[in-house]
Amino acid sequence: MFADISFPISSYKVFVYRIPEKLEHTVEVGVRVRVPFGKRTDQGVVVSLFKKTKFKGKILSIKSVVDETPIFDATLWKLLNWVSDYYLTPIGQVMSTAVPKQLNLSYKPMQQLMVHAGTISQTDLDNLSENAPVQFKVMRFLLERDGTIPVAHLNRIVTNVSSICNALEKKGYVSIQKVPRIPDLSSLSLFPRPKEVKFTKEQQGVITRLSDSMDAKRFQSFLLHGVTGSGKTEIYLQLAKMAESKGRASIILLPEISLTPQIAGRFQAEFGDRIAIWHSQMSPAERAWTWRQICSGAYSVVVGARSAIFSPLKNVGLIIVDEEQESSYKQESPAPRYHARNVALMRGKLSGALTVLSSATPSMESYYNQVVGKIYYLRLKRRFGGAKYPQVHMVDMIEERKKTEDYKTPFSRLLKDKIEDRLKKGEQVILLQNRRGFSPIVSCRDCGYVEMCRNCQISLTYHKVGNILRCHYCNFEKPTSISCRECQGSRLMLGGIGTQKVEEALVEYFPQMRLVRMDWDTTRKKGAYVHILRDFGDGVYDVLLGTQMIAKGLDFDNVTLVGIINADTGLFLPDFRAGERTFQLIYQVAGRSGRGEKPGEVVIQTNNSDSPVIKTAARLDLKKYYNICLSERRELDYAPFSWMARVEFSGKDKGNVRQVANEFTKSLQKKPKSLQVLGPAPCPFEKIRGNYRFQIIFKSPKEKDRNGTTLHNFLKKNLLNSSRMKRRKGVNLHVDVDPISLL
Ligand code: ADP
Ligand code: ZN
Repeated sequence: MFADISFPISSYKVFVYRIPEKLEHTVEVGVRVRVPFGKRTDQGVVVSLFKKTKFKGKILSIKSVVDETPIFDATLWKLLNWVSDYYLTPIGQVMSTAVPKQLNLSYKPMQQLMVHAGTISQTDLDNLSENAPVQFKVMRFLLERDGTIPVAHLNRIVTNVSSICNALEKKGYVSIQKVPRIPDLSSLSLFPRPKEVKFTKEQQGVITRLSDSMDAKRFQSFLLHGVTGSGKTEIYLQLAKMAESKGRASIILLPEISLTPQIAGRFQAEFGDRIAIWHSQMSPAERAWTWRQICSGAYSVVVGARSAIFSPLKNVGLIIVDEEQESSYKQESPAPRYHARNVALMRGKLSGALTVLSSATPSMESYYNQVVGKIYYLRLKRRFGGAKYPQVHMVDMIEERKKTEDYKTPFSRLLKDKIEDRLKKGEQVILLQNRRGFSPIVSCRDCGYVEMCRNCQISLTYHKVGNILRCHYCNFEKPTSISCRECQGSRLMLGGIGTQKVEEALVEYFPQMRLVRMDWDTTRKKGAYVHILRDFGDGVYDVLLGTQMIAKGLDFDNVTLVGIINADTGLFLPDFRAGERTFQLIYQVAGRSGRGEKPGEVVIQTNNSDSPVIKTAARLDLKKYYNICLSERRELDYAPFSWMARVEFSGKDKGNVRQVANEFTKSLQKKPKSLQVLGPAPCPFEKIRGNYRFQIIFKSPKEKDRNGTTLHNFLKKNLLNSSRMKRRKGVNLHVDVDPISLL
């Protein structure tokens, strides 16, 4: 017997090895083995088995087997290979994204010592008390508590815990056990509350349709387009339960698990210890341990962010991608630059699983797929419990400033009045300002000089906290200067509005208000996010002010007002998705208002009241905006009407970057007629983290390239050649298939 073995290195190849007879029963697909590799012994993964090989060279033998059970199965291996092929990334690199690195070391799961008090007679206890007071103290502590506790907890009452526990164990009074340490999830989930659920007719219709599809055990994909608050989360839960009852596992993808603690909490409440949570804040050890547990079949559900799509569950019957339009599903760096939504569809196909993309604001891609019938479409039009959609007011801030002659305040009179009204009534408010810091631009009134980051072509943001200027790309910081660096003038001006500035204005207007700010700067500490939300839910604060972090998945009954301080943030970014993103953000955050019995309102402040994006968002007219957006995209052959890819060139020397990009473009071969090549041109943000960046964009209209094979084959021909993608003249090249940002 022979086996193909893959190594976790950046290589396109697998290597063939002989399976010695004594190992024939233990070597299977997905098991790691030790093999001679060059002069060393290395560890690789078995990816396929066969009786004969055509390979003519010398074939070495597998030395030993590392795992008793496979660390993934054949389906997952197929998926990883698909990712490798589709995203033009070596399988070794795909492996290091998908499979925890620590598994490649001789990893031992984290363990902790647990101690349990056995029975002890009163005489023995008295004896102990007299002759060994410290042991007695521990013994009494243990007897007062039933069950098993971590030895480490005894640190609080005595110093040399392990020797004391050992002494007690020798006497037969306690038993000590080593057990794996279960990752602490309490910082990630909120309100794990069981709930009485009776589905509405509309919800039941959706559930029936989806569960029928699940029973068919064939791959089918759906776009579940349900307004915010329509009960999508409850439907996921119901489906996952149905899958479990049929012995099938579920994967629930959330955009960023630490930002969606409410949903994680709901799942935990229903599934208890049969659910694994897979998130970015896990330590490598937790990751490895959880992976192992999933392999061993300990869980029926994995809830997690992007990379949870690779979790080694067997027999997957259900895959859900919640908020499928979110850009965090795309891995930007390092390669593979995969989109978890895409991978989910492929995994669904390979596993014969029901795959549901879900959102209140679908991505243009999924919406288009629904229009052309590539994906089934299900709607939930009603909010649960009859909650009405909020009433939306738009304020033209240009007019407002003219009328009030106040050019400084971030607030319109209307928004101020409504906030005051809510404070009086004891209702809560969410305010969105999608920019952190105090002001995003510091400029000189005399010469117009703008303080820029020295590594990036980005203006520095003034942070009042710490009185510093900071780059939001590379975190470069410097103290604020009092005079202009160009002309030494002293009339520096703070332009634009960040969350800190809004906070300052709020405190000035409403000194009594209990306000909490939530942005990257206030949530860097682990668990901080959940803390703030928990307190807000408990009514500790009147107002929650934040960046787009607060737009997602929050469900608070008492919030009856949402204010968008500046709806135009991001609208004019030079990217074809800028409009779509802005619309989705406004629509999503508006959905946070009036989710309970009290009706909600939304105030949108804008300088662009004529913009179709803002106008349609203010009317919550999704269909209209999506149609406008789709027709623009069609005209310009952008996604979803074209398959797209980009190649980026970056390096310290601008001339070299340009030159390599030009040479590369000239050397492209066998360009199909229908393929459009844009560039090379500097990226809109030309310099980031000290690197100059150029890009080429490829567009292949779907009319002529239905399945994307034309573009894919062209890219493979031109890019799968490692010498072409090699770093040269200090310039790095990388390819991004289906890019979601062209910035
Ligand atoms: P979505 O995910 O679509 O925004 P949720 O699933 O969060 O909506 O539902 C909104 C609120 O309504 C939640 O508090 C949820 O628990 C509740 N809810 C939805 N459907 C039901 C139901 N059938 N029975 C009881 N509560 C429900
Ligand atoms: Zn920078």
